[in-house]
Amino acid sequence: MKQANTEDETPAGPPWRVGESVPWSVAWTGEQAFRLQPSQTFPGMVEVGQRSRPGEGEPMFAAIHVERHRAAMAGHLCHVCGRPTTANDRWVFLHASGGMVTLQDGSELYGANVPALHRACAERARAQCPHLGRLDDEPISTGGDAGRLIPRTDVVPGMEDLARGLPPGVEAVFSCYRLYGEAFTRRLVRACEAWEKRVRAARRRGHDGA
Ligand SMILES: [Zn+2]
Repeated sequence: MKQANTEDETPAGPPWRVGESVPWSVAWTGEQAFRLQPSQTFPGMVEVGQRSRPGEGEPMFAAIHVERHRAAMAGHLCHVCGRPTTANDRWVFLHASGGMVTLQDGSELYGANVPALHRACAERARAQCPHLGRLDDEPISTGGDAGRLIPRTDVVPGMEDLARGLPPGVEAVFSCYRLYGEAFTRRLVRACEAWEKRVRAARRRGHDGA
């Protein structure tokens, strides 16, 4: 078991608010206990469960709560506010939400491992999240493509101990993602190319002006 970091790195400031300054799906230090349980999302499979205490301890911005993540991916709940998204207001970030998945036939489709967001929540995340700000990432509408929910049984780093507790021959759902269709994948690739051109042009302008 790894020892929790005892140094307090949290700057003094306003309290964290789940769904506002902390995305709903983000895990907290008070939630770091895991178990195996029958899967509700993928009937017949075993899934990783996690203690649910949002707001307890400190938010772990680089870690996603396993169960909230799965509920959001399965039920189209917004990554930031946790409320349902509708087909006409469902957005993913070009870079931060996922990437290309290579299929058995060698073709590639876009897969999102971060739950899609409301447009307003995506804009708020862009303004508040230093990672998204550095990337200058942009949201793109999934345009009615709901994607297909796919379970992942490869062991997530940090959960090797839990995996060792599995009976022989049993795989557990450690995570899941949504695989999108060809039309949305093409639209996303084009948007990424346009984004790269804009970023390169902005860099050149920056150099010329220096
Ligand atoms: Zn939202």
